[in-house]
Amino acid sequence: MGLSRLNQLYRQVIMDHNEHPRNFGLTQEGGSFSIEMFNPSCGDEITVELVLNDERTMIQATRFEGVGCSISQASASMMTELFHGISLEEAKHLADLFSQMVLGQAVDLAPLKDAAILETVKNFPARIDCATLAWKAVQNFELDEAVKRKES
Ligand code: ZN
Repeated sequence: MGLSRLNQLYRQVIMDHNEHPRNFGLTQEGGSFSIEMFNPSCGDEITVELVLNDERTMIQATRFEGVGCSISQASASMMTELFHGISLEEAKHLADLFSQMVLGQAVDLAPLKDAAILETVKNFPARIDCATLAWKAVQNFELDEAVKRKES
């Protein structure tokens, strides 16, 4: 595939997620935890909501809300599709993998599914913080802190 074709595909997927974000809007159900993220370099704001099982080990659903550039919003949308019916530990592993990918490290892209298309971001260092914003919410997710935040 030529570079321009790849660019076109990349743009189409980003635009589709940006215009039709998946799992957009918070449920604020019991058992859900919200993490607010802000990227000052671009102005992106994202709130990630994890709906966990009673044991707080499995992610039943991930939702988000936010405003910002198309890469930050599309990336969050792709992440919510991936973080569904998997363990919190597995989600953290995938978030690590995603972060390594956009930093230009050689990783197995298959587990990232659609989100693997954001590998291109490694060529645009200024956009790395946009792409990783939502994923950092899960990467740094600490149950104790999230519970506290919810109760405050
Ligand atoms: Zn951005």
